[in-house]
Amino acid sequence: MSIQSNLNTIKASLPEHVTLVAVSKTKPVSDLMQAYEAGQRIFGENKIQEMTEKWEQMPKDIQWHMIGHVQSNKVKFMAPYVTLIQGVDSLKLLQEINKQALKNNRIIDCLLQIHIAEEESKFGLDENELNELLTSSEFKELKNIRILGLMGMATFTEDQNQIKKEFTHLKSIFDSLKSIEGYGKDALQYISTISMGMSGDYPLAIECGSTMVRIGSSIFGGR
Ligand SMILES: *Cc1c(COP(=O)(O)O)cnc(C)c1O
Repeated sequence: MSIQSNLNTIKASLPEHVTLVAVSKTKPVSDLMQAYEAGQRIFGENKIQEMTEKWEQMPKDIQWHMIGHVQSNKVKFMAPYVTLIQGVDSLKLLQEINKQALKNNRIIDCLLQIHIAEEESKFGLDENELNELLTSSEFKELKNIRILGLMGMATFTEDQNQIKKEFTHLKSIFDSLKSIEGYGKDALQYISTISMGMSGDYPLAIECGSTMVRIGSSIFGGR
């Protein structure tokens, strides 16, 4: 199957309110260009250097999403162009993103990553840490970032019930954002996005309320 036909099949299966991020990590620019020529404009990468090299070489109407774990000292390399940083899981990182956004005279959109999987290795905040972050005075000072919602990754397992439980948990945390005391109305108006679902589990994620899926291998083939 070609990249174009993979993409078209997936796009045809997505409800209108679900945004497709084509996860192109490790793939060459020629593969990304095939997706681009088939109409795809949102790409997800997990390494800042690789994403920046691709950004330099590719058309400028592409929206680049950082979906991997971000080290603070590398934020500056993507701050001029990144559209959405999906894996934000600390105040310290948000402060650095804010600082670099300010330097570039822009506002950078972010998702906060929530730890929903059983595995220890996956990054993210738990519900208490999320609430603490969003209501802290330090957070309120950050004027050059905007939180659009939450991102999460389910456990890597065949157990559909387990995955469903984790996605449902993320959706319930998302819904509870509206009732966090002290998280301002102004900030709440931007909350719109639940990024969950990958090649193996995106139909289930959509059933559970996902509005953004991150799909790599089903479009570009295995890595
Ligand atoms: C690699 C990756 C994906 C895409 O995974 P596929 O199984 O290839 O669809 C999605 N989200 C994150 C955070 C990733 O690192």
